[in-house]
Amino acid sequence: MNEKRVFNFAAGPSAIPEEVLAEAGAEIMNYRGSGMSVMEMSHRSKAFLSIFEETKDTLRRLMKVPEDFEILFLQGGATLQFAMAPMNLITRTGKADYAITGSFAGKAADEAKKYGDIAIAASSKEKNHTYIPAQSELKIREDASYFYYCANNTIYGTEWQYTPQTPAGVPLVADMSSDILTRYVDWSKYALVFAGAQKNMAPAGVTVVFINKNYIGHALPYTPVMLDYAAMVKGDSMHNTPPCWSIYMMGLIMKWVEKMGGIEAMEARKRQRSKLLYDVIDRSSLYKGCAEKDSRSFMNVTFVTGDPEIDKRFIAGAKEAGIENVNGHRSVGGMRASIYNAMSIEGTQALADYMVEFEKRG
Ligand SMILES: *Cc1c(COP(=O)(O)O)cnc(C)c1O
Repeated sequence: MNEKRVFNFAAGPSAIPEEVLAEAGAEIMNYRGSGMSVMEMSHRSKAFLSIFEETKDTLRRLMKVPEDFEILFLQGGATLQFAMAPMNLITRTGKADYAITGSFAGKAADEAKKYGDIAIAASSKEKNHTYIPAQSELKIREDASYFYYCANNTIYGTEWQYTPQTPAGVPLVADMSSDILTRYVDWSKYALVFAGAQKNMAPAGVTVVFINKNYIGHALPYTPVMLDYAAMVKGDSMHNTPPCWSIYMMGLIMKWVEKMGGIEAMEARKRQRSKLLYDVIDRSSLYKGCAEKDSRSFMNVTFVTGDPEIDKRFIAGAKEAGIENVNGHRSVGGMRASIYNAMSIEGTQALADYMVEFEKRG
């Protein structure tokens, strides 16, 4: 039993800032004199609509999202966007090109194949997704409706360190589930960006979509209304009941990000955190980083000892030290420390210290 809160390195759902949890806790019975919890409110009530608008505005301000983009709060997770993106965007030419840099990108391409002609612009599969392809390796067709990539590969611990360039007229579509809110986005290059919010923005239950208005209204004819961006925009994410509680929590987290200093601060903190862990790995003779150095993720640090038994001992020992969820994804094993915005420098330092101590101890 844990009397204290642990340092939680879970990949998603993941840690939420303690101040935010405390604030939500204080308001849980009676939200600002409304006499009820946000969980109990009508999504059409004045109190909730003001939470909704403020959350959207704060996100737009933080990420400098231009007015030609709509922000949507949807359900179904990032995984539903794997289908929704092609259903809405592939009609321009019937073709789309995908970079396969991990399992989520692979799943997105598999889903898209149901709706059009999908080509693989690049794949890192032959090296077990340990790197991000260089710009020169991307083969993007001039008549692709869009080029799709997964900005941060949560499972393998690799992250695109550049914004891909495409032939003229081919916009980008990106899954930013695990690195949203950690850097600015060059919106002029994108048709669509989406993120399952449970990594870096909110508890599970809400999916954030940024869609350029020019790409709305071209869905395939049999697209269900809930999967049509045009309908979602028209209803302002309230064609049906939205995930009210998750949106409220996201609002509190956005305000926390802003208070901490916004994207610049999140970016500085992510560099500081990831350096603490990669420095230990690079100085160690026990730990080996899984990703190639120039492709390393700032958000998910993956490493192994080379011996699954030692990995197991590492993970068990970490738990005893109040450091949880450092096991790798069930499909790859080894270790993974997810260090999203809410992870403190102190928590990351505790893991770095534990790593050094575990290696010394032998
Ligand atoms: C977690 C994750 C997903 C899956 O998200 P769901 O919201 O569970 O569908 C997709 N892409 C990336 C990059 C992720 O990290």
